[in-house]
Amino acid sequence: MSKTGHAAVYDEPNAPFVIREFPVRDVRPDEALVRITMSTICRSDIHSYQGHRPNPCPGILGHEIIGIIDQIGAMITHDMRGDPLNVGDRVTWTEYFHDGPSYYRDVHDMPQKSEGLRKYGHGLVSDDPHFIGGFADYCYILPGTGILKLPDDITDEEATPLNCGVATMIGGCRGRRHPDGRRRRRAGLRATRHLRVRHCQGPRCAYGHRARLGGG
Ligand SMILES: [Zn+2]
Repeated sequence: MSKTGHAAVYDEPNAPFVIREFPVRDVRPDEALVRITMSTICRSDIHSYQGHRPNPCPGILGHEIIGIIDQIGAMITHDMRGDPLNVGDRVTWTEYFHDGPSYYRDVHDMPQKSEGLRKYGHGLVSDDPHFIGGFADYCYILPGTGILKLPDDITDEEATPLNCGVATMIGGCRGRRHPDGRRRRRAGLRATRHLRVRHCQGPRCAYGHRARLGGG
């Protein structure tokens, strides 16, 4: 296969994005390639753009991403809930990826704290496979990523912030069990109103967790 895609490249803080073209290679057996259909501008993207936090340049910002599977490696057969994955499926995926042994993932069930963890929207566009951020035509899903096939009854607008904004909100609501939970719960509920994620107010949200965000 020989094709290319475009990306809005973040060259340096507070400078206009520059549209550049990069080659799109075939996936390896443990990768997937997604044609991006929506990506949000998360508040942390704005922080990066403004130079308030370190982010490699030149890179592709954007980590709340959904899209359609364009290619899928032979080793990827199911998503993180056990649903089969195929070319043409609409998916989102974890903001982070980490391959190999991880104490935090294996012992504490906290893969997001793994040492050596990498994140989408936080890589150099000059490195293979170029497309690892949301402000582009394509994104590669790399080994160590949790992929989620999206149900048809979730709109693109509802689905795109699931992996960061909604996850942060749910974490805030669960924080009510923490000794400092009162304050954290309030933060979560503020996020709830902000995001208007009505689909999470039922007994089962898109991640398959029980979530009662109203909290009584
Ligand atoms: Zn974010």
